[in-house]
Amino acid sequence: MTEFWKSQAMYWCDICKVWLKDDAQAKAVHERGAKHQENVAKRLRDMRRRAEEEKKSEAQLATTMKNIEQAAAAQFSRDKDEELRYRKATLGEWVLNTESGYHYNALHRWRQSCRNQGPPPDPKKKRKIDKSLPPEEREALLRREAARARVEKRTMATFGLQ
Ligand SMILES: [Zn+2]
Repeated sequence: MTEFWKSQAMYWCDICKVWLKDDAQAKAVHERGAKHQENVAKRLRDMRRRAEEEKKSEAQLATTMKNIEQAAAAQFSRDKDEELRYRKATLGEWVLNTESGYHYNALHRWRQSCRNQGPPPDPKKKRKIDKSLPPEEREALLRREAARARVEKRTMATFGLQ
């Protein structure tokens, strides 16, 4: 067998997967043949198809990446909603009472529970200060009023209401 290969040089046509006699004429005859031509065309078709499949899988990858990004964005927005719900549940919700001009937090009973349970005072109307009080006491009351207003303003700011 070894003798055979040595004595007769052969040529391998990789397209047809066959051995040919290694001489120019035999090769030319084979390459002009219908079978070889058909195999060359098939090889080209396969290459083209593979390239298209690669392109398609690239497009699929891009789509997958886009879907992942969209899912992440949706999750982020759900997390934000969840955080908002959590804040509402723990900090309570502030509702404006247009009649009084005050915001109320039902959860913490802020503003409603800090004074006598009656209707809230008009924020635009200053609390009356007894004129018969000595000036130092009137001054102290005014200061306390101003301090209360500052605390309220700060509280409103803390909850993003101002
Ligand atoms: Zn061939």
